[in-house]
Amino acid sequence: MEKNAFLFFAALLLSSISNGQTNIHFTNPAIYNILKGNYNPQDYMAAYPVDDPYFIASQLNSEINPDSLKATLLALQAFHNRNTASDTVSETNGIGAARKWVLSQFDRYSNQQGARLVTGYLQFDTVICTMTRHKNVVAVLPGRNISDPSSIIIEAHLDSRCKDNCDIDCLAQGMEDNASGVALVLELARIMSRFTFNHTIIFVAITGEEQGLDGSTAFAKYAVQQNIPIKAVLNNDIVGGIICGETSSPPSCPGLNNIDSTQVRLFSFGGFNSSHKALSRFIKLEYNEMLRPQANVPMTVSIMSAEDRTGRGGDHIPFREKGFAAMRFTSANEHGNANVADSTYHDRQHTSADILGVDTNSDAEIDSFFVDFDYLARNAAINGNAATMAALGPKSPSILSVGQDGDFLYVQVDDPQDYNHYVVGLRVNTNDFDTLYYITDSKSGVFKLPHRNVNIFISAASIDSNGIESLFSDEKLVRLTATNEPQDPGEKIELLQNKPNPFDESTIISFLVNEPVSVQHAKIRITDSRGVMIKEIPVAMKEGINEVLFNHGYNMTGTYLYSLWINEKLIATKKMVFAN
Ligand SMILES: [Zn+2]
Repeated sequence: MEKNAFLFFAALLLSSISNGQTNIHFTNPAIYNILKGNYNPQDYMAAYPVDDPYFIASQLNSEINPDSLKATLLALQAFHNRNTASDTVSETNGIGAARKWVLSQFDRYSNQQGARLVTGYLQFDTVICTMTRHKNVVAVLPGRNISDPSSIIIEAHLDSRCKDNCDIDCLAQGMEDNASGVALVLELARIMSRFTFNHTIIFVAITGEEQGLDGSTAFAKYAVQQNIPIKAVLNNDIVGGIICGETSSPPSCPGLNNIDSTQVRLFSFGGFNSSHKALSRFIKLEYNEMLRPQANVPMTVSIMSAEDRTGRGGDHIPFREKGFAAMRFTSANEHGNANVADSTYHDRQHTSADILGVDTNSDAEIDSFFVDFDYLARNAAINGNAATMAALGPKSPSILSVGQDGDFLYVQVDDPQDYNHYVVGLRVNTNDFDTLYYITDSKSGVFKLPHRNVNIFISAASIDSNGIESLFSDEKLVRLTATNEPQDPGEKIELLQNKPNPFDESTIISFLVNEPVSVQHAKIRITDSRGVMIKEIPVAMKEGINEVLFNHGYNMTGTYLYSLWINEKLIATKKMVFAN
């Protein structure tokens, strides 16, 4: 009896603490079949398939329309409040009306292209505020190659909020956060549904972001439950604003009212051998190769060290946690750090002030906009271009072997597809490639090294007959030496140079352990040049590369030191430079 009572209470406790999403399914079963690769591609083929990557890139450049993006923002503005728990019955107000409108837009684009988009909701149950049932809005463009049904997701959260996260009546137009992202997703669905891709592309407007990433967690969880392969996730959250607020989470914003309309930040998890950072590097590379040369306003694509801004998160994270390559696009400048609990907070994010703009000449028309439609169009093109190349390009190779001989680096690629053309990316000091090498008509290459006596990371991508790269392979570490002598094999633990260095807001400090590890207490200690401690970061030590992300925030410049301590014993110290 006692035991049963205990079990009953244990079960009760579990059910009350597990705030999980259940009953996750597509309202249109055809979507499930497409994402599993169980369909006939002919059913969704265009009458005249257009699949030339250069043509598609040029179309993204010319056809993404700032006015079309603006029209979406105006439409979303009218729903008054898109809180996840807001009205689902009204035709004019609340999240229900908003998601119905998004679905109707997807259907409209599909009808323009001979029903090539398959649309519906990804529905799930969980309690958010008082609402128990929720829906992500989905449009799927089926790929023509079902032998690899892995798909590319372009997502943005549709829900908005005010100061009180469950306020379903306040003005919560959420224009910058995140009608901008939804407008981007819709515009890409409109344009990309004209073209034919090898891989399936999924356009999604997510719900439940503001209360804890519920909609994206439901999607990522469903993909794992149903064994649905996902090649890449591009999350768009706050992608249209160009004006700094007074507060903003680092790293962002040089100061109030600063304008930046030519930079976008790519946030992703991890350092060495991160598929998420590799995806960010791919996005930047494809932009620089395919779009930047023809862009009227060239963009700076910045690969950030951290997964998100300090203390914040987004809908790429649940996908990353489930093992899918995922990253986030965010504007260079943000209007606020979203910490509306701070009594002195008066920026726009997560308040009723996140509106489209203001009427400066009192003619009852908004004439000064907080979202820059041209900037948003440029970010849409970067997304669409990356998704295009990932959906058309070849499979990734792997690196079979890599080594140094004096001034030269040898790389041998393993590629069952036999493309015999590869790009080898070498990372020295940054999150990006510092040097690219090309291998042609072979699976191996020898390259002159730009540096000696450093630790470099190497990865490779296949290049197909169209000149389009695959996503990049896993990274390999190469420990270069200044002489032709092999590195001292006696070194069991080596502190590596931080990357990026110099850096602006955060950096990744790593050390290499060349032996099996029993339980040991390791930490990285950061000090200024006088030896004053700034931070200690504990590390759960493992064999191979160990990494910690150090985020120092703003307003520190100069040279600092970082030391590796194991079992309270100093192992090594190196210098790093803060540049902002
Ligand atoms: Zn957001």
